[in-house]
Amino acid sequence: MNILFMGPPGAGKGTQAEAIVNEFGIPHVSTGDAFRLAIKQGTPVGLKAKEYIDQGLLVPDDVTVGIVRERLQQSDCEKGFLLDGFPRTLSQAEALEELLGEMNRKLTHVINLKVDRNKLLARLTGRRICKSCGSTYHVIFNPPKQEGVCDKCGGELYQRSDDNEESVGTRLDEYINKTAPLLQFYESKGLLTEIDGEQEIDTVTKKIVSLLRG
Ligand code: ADP
Ligand code: ADP
Ligand code: ZN
Repeated sequence: MNILFMGPPGAGKGTQAEAIVNEFGIPHVSTGDAFRLAIKQGTPVGLKAKEYIDQGLLVPDDVTVGIVRERLQQSDCEKGFLLDGFPRTLSQAEALEELLGEMNRKLTHVINLKVDRNKLLARLTGRRICKSCGSTYHVIFNPPKQEGVCDKCGGELYQRSDDNEESVGTRLDEYINKTAPLLQFYESKGLLTEIDGEQEIDTVTKKIVSLLRG
């Protein structure tokens, strides 16, 4: 199972990925998570990525493709992977085809979580993440049992610095201009399935699981 999740910022990719990787035992490969880790560690990639992420802009393709290449070649990806947040440009999609080709692999499913743009601002500004385990919550739509504390590990919840109104506007524009055209690319390859991402979190999970179980 070589899965790709698509959808605008806030569509629920990360939330669904948590459930799906648990269910199928494949690694979650998120470029956003990889960049945030690199920033925390202060690596050269992190320093470069931060300039763009802070403004809500996409990180340049060469930097992004480099980290995905390294990650997919690690041995835990041999049994499959779930890509979340990559590719986001046509050039990244082409680089991914090439990379998978070198590894004699192919994407098996591309799932687009559809959510109307007017729902995304509230989702993103209310998003909270666990500092320790990375689990995603929402102050209203998916609150933890105790405010500010992760249900799963007791870790402290924080708000991403780019989940503010200004950055969200730029990110949604970047999505429309650069990422949305990829849907056609995957549609034309017969890989794309659309799922209504405005349903309850558990309902969306069930639909994805049943699609993947085929
Ligand atoms: P993405 O990874 O696509 O940017 P997330 O999974 O981080 O999106 O979800 C964005 C925010 O919306 C999070 O706060 C999450 O808890 C919330 N969320 C996710 N799925 C749903 C849903 N189906 N209904 C309501 N809120 C949701
Ligand atoms: P979201 O799903 O909320 O948009 P992510 O965690 O996937 O957030 O990404 C956060 C930021 O990291 C993006 O706004 C962008 O700056 C950068 N980023 C992540 N993935 C990519 C990518 N494939 N190409 C370029 N930039 C990326
Ligand atoms: Zn946690």
